[in-house]
Amino acid sequence: MRDYANHTTNRAPDRDVAITDIKTCVVEGNFEWNLITIETDAGVTGIGEAYRGGGVPEIVEYTKRFLIGENPLDVERLFRRIIQEMSGHGGTTGKVVTAASGIEFALWDVAGKVLDVPIYQLLGGKFRDEVRIYADVHAGEAYQVEDGFTEYADEDAYTPEAYADAAAQVVDMGFTALKFDLDLPMDNDPDPYNGRVSNAAIQYKVDIVEAVREEIGDDVDLAFDCHWDYATESAKRLATKLEPYDLMWLEDPIPPENMRAQKEVTRSTSTPIATGENRFRVHELSELIYDHGVDIVTPDPSTVGGLAETKRIADRAEEQYMPLSPHNVTSPIGTMAMVHLGAAIPNFDVLEFHALEVDWWDDLHTRDEPLIEDGYIEVPETPGLGIELDESVAREHCLEGTDCF
Ligand code: MG
Repeated sequence: MRDYANHTTNRAPDRDVAITDIKTCVVEGNFEWNLITIETDAGVTGIGEAYRGGGVPEIVEYTKRFLIGENPLDVERLFRRIIQEMSGHGGTTGKVVTAASGIEFALWDVAGKVLDVPIYQLLGGKFRDEVRIYADVHAGEAYQVEDGFTEYADEDAYTPEAYADAAAQVVDMGFTALKFDLDLPMDNDPDPYNGRVSNAAIQYKVDIVEAVREEIGDDVDLAFDCHWDYATESAKRLATKLEPYDLMWLEDPIPPENMRAQKEVTRSTSTPIATGENRFRVHELSELIYDHGVDIVTPDPSTVGGLAETKRIADRAEEQYMPLSPHNVTSPIGTMAMVHLGAAIPNFDVLEFHALEVDWWDDLHTRDEPLIEDGYIEVPETPGLGIELDESVAREHCLEGTDCF
């Protein structure tokens, strides 16, 4: 049988390291942030973060039975070991891959600290000194996640003026790229299930896009997310109507499972179409990339399989001259891991920041300055991740009923 346990014996003494413990902490931000620490007998602790959602800390806990004692410097082998050990119980996709992604981030932090280099160096070196960030912006109270599920505001929160005002505020903060949600409660008229968008609802979306574009001008990059809501024909009608506004992208206008439908929408319009955040591992993105079923590929490194797996996806996209812009709703820990990735891949464009409303976001790390300055994050030069978690702040915001580390 194929066995990803450690079969090597040759290792310099200073790199003969073992994992001694793995711990989790769920921090309640605007999303539930699944933080993971990996302790070692080298006196080094690494930190990572897996995408939000129930069950992930339990899976991380489960991996301790085969990861403790392993050498954390074998990042790629240990990722495969997690998939293999759990392949009979969901290991090839879904939450197991999400948990493995957060563990993989922490392993890179350990490796960087042990080897005394930043993570980006281990990923092949850097293309850029700072990584451009796009702000996920909401009009009024639109689209909140409450207790882990989606809460919509009243319809009058979603006026074109509210979108334009929110856009102006975020551009004033220095961001050069923004994304809004374009799925609205009034899409559900006359039917909440069939995905068809009426002419009136499409025109309302066009009015929103026009109001934002007029407010911020042509030089700020602008994207809209539809959260997998529409029938193929409605998605095509919407994307075509939005062509005059030169969007950075239109994201997930149709549900994510059907690649043929995805290709049909993408090829029907000059509006760039983005998708990828629902997919796991390189296998679920390769066909879409090779068949040009997407224009901008947007996997989430904290759920798709970690930094190295996202780099493999980026390599395939680069072959097709396609940019990659990671989806991201993590704390500063996961975000900084993705900054190293953004530094290390040539076809990186922008990284998502989805925590404008969390005023203690920067308290969660120990660096004195805010991570984001004028819409960019500087790529750290210190070993590993380049920031540490402030555990006291993490504990203050620990999810009720759970233990933090
Ligand atoms: Mg999205």
